[in-house]
Amino acid sequence: MGPPGAGKGTQAVSLANQLGIAHISTGDIFRSNVSDKTELGLLAKKYMDAGEYVPDSVTNEMVKHRLAEPDVQHGFLLDGYPRTVAQVAELDVILSKLGAQVDLVIELTVDIDEVVKRLVQRSLQQGRSDDSEEVIRRRLEVYQEQTAPLLAAYRARGVLKSVSGMGEIEQVRERLAQLVAS
Ligand code: AMP
Repeated sequence: MGPPGAGKGTQAVSLANQLGIAHISTGDIFRSNVSDKTELGLLAKKYMDAGEYVPDSVTNEMVKHRLAEPDVQHGFLLDGYPRTVAQVAELDVILSKLGAQVDLVIELTVDIDEVVKRLVQRSLQQGRSDDSEEVIRRRLEVYQEQTAPLLAAYRARGVLKSVSGMGEIEQVRERLAQLVAS
């Protein structure tokens, strides 16, 4: 978990590789549906382009299907999910049916000025349509309003660990590698 631009996507790929588990990014699944122009993609695009979250019912359904695939049997890393209180509740239901539980929730902490700088740079490099300055501002607001409160819930469950996302990608990767090895 962490605000947009904290480096979740980049770090999640490395960490999942290191652990030999599936990497599941809801943002990536939405983006591939957008580029394939599926029904789900057409629906999701409206929300993504405005910096809003895709409705819980749609997102939860998609994650439920993804977690029914065989490659999750040895574990998985969720990147960008859950992001709302309703998604936490749904994930609990899905996991209990799978006989699984959340072992660890990682919060990547960053300073907001740094995040905005990273996102503006990413918009120039990748041309993501949800990286304009106005949309970036909205995405940060939505994170604060809807997702930041989940940290307290996972802290109360005793599974939350916070790691600084500041510095070079390699440095953050090393911090995360040490965290999961400990
Ligand atoms: P990300 O790549 O994780 O930053 O996600 C990009 C966009 O996809 C977000 O700004 C949302 O519009 C949408 N999205 C990704 N994950 C979720 C989620 N768990 N719930 C709702 N919308 C999501």
